[in-house]
Amino acid sequence: MPDLPAPAPGRISARIAAVQESATLAIEAKAKALKAAGEDVIGFGAGEPDFPTPEHIVEAAAAACRDPRAHHYTPTAGLPELREAIAAKTARDSGYAVKPAQVLVTNGGKQAIEEAFATLLDPGDEVLVPAPYWTTYPEAVRLAGGVPVEVPATAASGYKVSVDQLESALTGRTKVLLFVSPSNPTGAVYSETETQAVATWAEERGLWVLTDEIYEHLVYGGARAWSLPVLVPSLADRCVVVNGVAKTYAMTGWRVGWLIGPGDFVKAATNLQSHSTSNVCNVAQRAALAAVTGPLDDVARMRDVYDRRRRAIVAALSEMPGLVCPEPQGAFYAFPSFAGVLGRSGADRAMPTSSLELAELVLDQAKVAFVPGEAFGAPGCGRFSYALADDDLSEGMTRLAKFFS
Ligand code: PMP
Repeated sequence: MPDLPAPAPGRISARIAAVQESATLAIEAKAKALKAAGEDVIGFGAGEPDFPTPEHIVEAAAAACRDPRAHHYTPTAGLPELREAIAAKTARDSGYAVKPAQVLVTNGGKQAIEEAFATLLDPGDEVLVPAPYWTTYPEAVRLAGGVPVEVPATAASGYKVSVDQLESALTGRTKVLLFVSPSNPTGAVYSETETQAVATWAEERGLWVLTDEIYEHLVYGGARAWSLPVLVPSLADRCVVVNGVAKTYAMTGWRVGWLIGPGDFVKAATNLQSHSTSNVCNVAQRAALAAVTGPLDDVARMRDVYDRRRRAIVAALSEMPGLVCPEPQGAFYAFPSFAGVLGRSGADRAMPTSSLELAELVLDQAKVAFVPGEAFGAPGCGRFSYALADDDLSEGMTRLAKFFS
């Protein structure tokens, strides 16, 4: 938000003044502003499906709007039938058997993450955050008084961290391990063996795990998302699962997510939510109920489209000289490394030295928006969402290839 002054310490609390603007939303805002000004910008920045919400879900919401029962508060933790359906859906999709009472319905996965850290962390508690990480994680940790400890992964390891790396980041203050597979921003998916190794290690070390399963259905080419407490059941007593309808059902705007955890944790998180946002919008909860109890046909159809675009974008990026793009196996992001081009001087111009400057230059000159790796603790890289129309994807890649040629 460049038109507003920066928060000044003293006027604004130190805790909130330290919060960084979401860089993913910032690049989208800049691209949208350029578009509004008549520029023909192709945006690879948005982390959301370009599809409309499936019709049967919209219909359920429309019916709910006309039903006075949906015009009132629900219990803070959510409609009982939705919590029940989420428990059933979790058993169906990941094999994790939980009770409806272990489910707290939240305003998107984002609120689930924020509440989970607020509920678990005391000042100074450390959270292991594998990098590249989704921008919100470290901010949510800091807002809760915790300390995010980055565990860096590179393109060479497919952007996945090993147990050895986690072990060397462990201190006496480590309380939580954050795990996300498929990953935003890299699209990396941990195999069953890798997930099992991480879960076993966390269990042995007595850590809590926050596992973000929001992209569970968006996996390609035989990859599969594994749920940590399914592979290591004894972890369940210290495990928080985050999920939601946003990505799976193209429902980002409806704001329905949830967390699942042990009873005492869910009770505490519900107390917190009862004093902040209370229940999630009643109508949106009924839409989510239709989503999680409905068929997965639309999901399969959207996944096939993403898969086609995934192969197209990886092929295009990999052909650009100097770019390295590991093949993402999940979510809808490609995450190339620009290490081979940054700072390089060509015949007619010098390349910028950082991915942040590169993103600005590409937006200005090629009219292509992507999110620089700095936003994800991975300078030198960039995130390209392929949740955009095929024609735009192809035109954007043509422009980028020309820029790098
Ligand atoms: N987790 C991950 C990894 C995400 O990418 C997102 C959305 N960008 C969320 C959680 C939150 O999604 P929402 O709040 O829209 O449900």
